[in-house]
Amino acid sequence: MNTDQREVRVRFAPSPTGPLHIGGVRTALYNYLFARKYGGQMLLRIEDTDQNRFVPGAEDYIIESLNWLGITIDEGPVNGGPHAPYRQSERSEIYRKEAERLVAEGKAYYAFDTAEELEAMRKRMEEANAPAAQYNAITRLQMKNSLTLSAGEVQERIASGAPYVIRLKVPRKEDVRLNDLIRGWVVVHSSQIDDKVLIKSDGLPTYHLANIVDDHLMGITHVIRGEEWLPSAPLHVLLYRFLGWESTMPQFAHLPLLLKPDGNGKLSKRDADLGGFPVFPLQWKDPFTQAVARGFREDGYLPEALVNFLAFLGWNPGTEQELFTMDELIQAFSLEQIHKAGARFDIQKAKWFNHEYLRRQPNDRLAEAVVRQAAADGVDCPVEKAEKITGLMKERVTFAHELYAESAIFFRAPESYDPAVVSGKWNDEAVRALTAFRDALASAEDPLTAEAAKTVLATSLAEAGIKQGKIMQALRLAITGVGAGPDLMITLEIIGRQETIDRLQLALDKLAVGSSPS
Ligand code: GLU
Repeated sequence: MNTDQREVRVRFAPSPTGPLHIGGVRTALYNYLFARKYGGQMLLRIEDTDQNRFVPGAEDYIIESLNWLGITIDEGPVNGGPHAPYRQSERSEIYRKEAERLVAEGKAYYAFDTAEELEAMRKRMEEANAPAAQYNAITRLQMKNSLTLSAGEVQERIASGAPYVIRLKVPRKEDVRLNDLIRGWVVVHSSQIDDKVLIKSDGLPTYHLANIVDDHLMGITHVIRGEEWLPSAPLHVLLYRFLGWESTMPQFAHLPLLLKPDGNGKLSKRDADLGGFPVFPLQWKDPFTQAVARGFREDGYLPEALVNFLAFLGWNPGTEQELFTMDELIQAFSLEQIHKAGARFDIQKAKWFNHEYLRRQPNDRLAEAVVRQAAADGVDCPVEKAEKITGLMKERVTFAHELYAESAIFFRAPESYDPAVVSGKWNDEAVRALTAFRDALASAEDPLTAEAAKTVLATSLAEAGIKQGKIMQALRLAITGVGAGPDLMITLEIIGRQETIDRLQLALDKLAVGSSPS
């Protein structure tokens, strides 16, 4: 692809207004993959110029989320860089200077209208059935600004400390074009764009101005961001032109929306709550309300799995391969393979990825959690046992915490027996078989391996003249209480010889043939 000969530099530019939404995480990931693929730089810029929406802790949350997922940043508020500071609240002077330059060049103007005056204008426009109720090339001439007031009056107002904003003087009739790398050509008539505020009455820049000034000064070559910013892009193109930076304007790539699980409309926090899944990477405690929102990390997702899942939300490698490490994603990623259509957020797919990554994890790493959880439960579980349980169970669960939760049979004899299996499989033959197996185990060696258990079972059944296939479910029932589960011989190895004998005895005592189970 054309990377316009400059070193690729991309940025993730979140506003710290709360926890980072999963859509924002995907944006960060795509920027990262793109930067790494082309050997470029990935910046983190904190867009915190809207003081009313600032939420304490949000910036740390963003940084922790990126760290957790392995999205490394080359320049940003933590590691600094040649364009520091990377927090917009620390760069106000830079934006003001550019805005004043635009005013001096006649491309922007001061506006002094009060909230009431703006409201009155909106009403007038509405009554006149004007297509757009906004501050524009026509209405600006009816308002109080440096285009309608005399220079002296403007000076006086500013000197007296009257509140004012700086607005962009959007041309009246002109097509604004941009060639989005994903969407293709986007053409908007300038009459559709209002005279956007660049500097607010609190002296701070709006998102639009700060974003463009920083992208320019920080040498950004590609702006990869969510589709919700597409409507702002023509305004941004105008700003580049007015600021005289058109020749180095970044290329734009607007990512498809994340859709609700059923594909109808944009994914919201409410959908996630209803569906019982998170939309935030990490758990978030709201500093104002103390309300806690769940996170993928705390729900038990592995970072590799979430990365792989997110990569596929809007992008496809064009092959059958689904499992990708970060390095493989970097190799395979391209903006050309990003879809235009929204991406359905299918949490079942996220679970599938987690399962796939979990079963590939080494047993010793997962076993630690089993030992810890067992201890918290007051159950002693030696590491060796935890590793065996892990090896057996990781194929059967989605999350690491389920390893212990699903492992009760390795620690306790069944408290009840599935009545359906009892009535179908518990019969005289089963009783004879299990009695023979119990007796044979009494003289077997410790520790009982799965292999040994298999041999003892085969020999004792052969002696009793019973076919193994006919009693296997009854044996499983006696050991686990249910008719299906993980490999039975390994289960016997894990619980040990004596416990196997005890459980067989317990079942033989409790389950009388032909009676209802207790
Ligand atoms: N601060 C904007 C946001 O929160 C950045 C948008 C952009 O990438 O231009 O999404």
